[in-house]
Amino acid sequence: MHDESKKLYDRALGSMAGGVSSQIRTLEPAEHPLFFESAQGSHMWDVDGNEYIDYVMGLGPALFGHAPEFIAHRVTESMQHGFVYAAQHVCELEVAELALAMIPMRDATVRFASSGTEIVQVALRLMRAYSGKPKYVKFEGHYHGWTDNVSYSVHPGLNEAGSEQTPTAVPESAGLDPTGAANVVVCEWNDLDRLEQAFAEHPGEIGGVLMEPILANSNSVMPHPGYLEGVKALCRREGALLCFDEVITGFRVAAGGAQEMLGVNADLATYAKALAGGFPLAMLAGRRELMNLVGNGHVAHGGCFNANVMSIAAARATLEHLRDAGPAFYYELNDRGQQLMEGLRRVAAECDSNLHVQGPGSFFGISFTDREQITNWRDNLRHCDDAKYKRFAWAMLREGVRLSCTGRVHMATSHTDLDIERTLAAAHKVLPTLRHLPGDDL
Ligand code: PLP
Repeated sequence: MHDESKKLYDRALGSMAGGVSSQIRTLEPAEHPLFFESAQGSHMWDVDGNEYIDYVMGLGPALFGHAPEFIAHRVTESMQHGFVYAAQHVCELEVAELALAMIPMRDATVRFASSGTEIVQVALRLMRAYSGKPKYVKFEGHYHGWTDNVSYSVHPGLNEAGSEQTPTAVPESAGLDPTGAANVVVCEWNDLDRLEQAFAEHPGEIGGVLMEPILANSNSVMPHPGYLEGVKALCRREGALLCFDEVITGFRVAAGGAQEMLGVNADLATYAKALAGGFPLAMLAGRRELMNLVGNGHVAHGGCFNANVMSIAAARATLEHLRDAGPAFYYELNDRGQQLMEGLRRVAAECDSNLHVQGPGSFFGISFTDREQITNWRDNLRHCDDAKYKRFAWAMLREGVRLSCTGRVHMATSHTDLDIERTLAAAHKVLPTLRHLPGDDL
């Protein structure tokens, strides 16, 4: 089924480290990483001619599906005037104004960069510069890019994670700055007492709290009612800044991201993925008073590709589309996701499977667990059968449905009723056979 991909992958191993350009791609739920030829709407085609309904959607950016005409057209048009100015242009200013009109942060300004990883770094630097305190709180199971200072306890094993009261900062990579862990205070998420304890254990040293406001990177967990409000109040009390990493949730769950959906504002918020509908663009938004530290150069931030012509044109097309569509856009997108979630629950019940779905709808997590709800990373470790998910995802791929290795499903406006019907039919076929699939050795 994947012979051409296999040949290309073997060839790639000769010239590309690991045969891929990002490590997660080695985890594609297949025999080996696949090579794709084209992507359009909700579908993708690999080099062996297999067609898939895609729920990876570039891991989130493709909010309207792949290669939507209205974005492609605007980007192509913009390219006639140059690609990279390394200087200001009007469209960039318009995107800043459009974005600020959508996100619920009053008297805020923004800065653009090219990736989520980069923009989180600006936020962390700003937190330290503003507060004068060296440490920040990072939560287990949350992902904020691959740089040294955030590469701790993203997905640590139970045997290395330490106690729930005082989790260990577990490095995610070899080669991290050995002094870095001292400034990362790792905490369990969705538990206010633990955060309060962290502040008490590091008096006067924590300048900021960074979190995904909806834990997209570990089974799409919603915050407990009142949790975000409690975190915000604690931050105020302790003189720490609160930063929501909205790289996934921004412009995906609502025009104003998780802040709008959940009704809690942060001091700083980072955006990327859906912001430019598939083009590389990231944005930091924050209160003017804080952002002035970036504005006056006190906090350094640069990048020649920042706000390049194509990404900004794509963002403008994206944001204008979202503005014109209004709230109905998100009712429909979240509803579509809920429709698939409900369908999967029904199919799971019919097949006597413990397949579980949770999340807001426009994205959600699939796992195999007997629990009614997964509420943080350790819950995932203790109660979810990861190997079974991998078998499921691989079996679904064979049926023409592409799921991510993480279990996170990204809905796009291009997913049709027929896509959902076919996905549910595939799940119905696959779930009863899971135990007998050759994917056991994945
Ligand atoms: N923050 C969050 C919440 C993410 O999910 C990701 C990527 O998945 C990042 C930051 C890093 O973004 P990028 O891959 O654009 O560097």
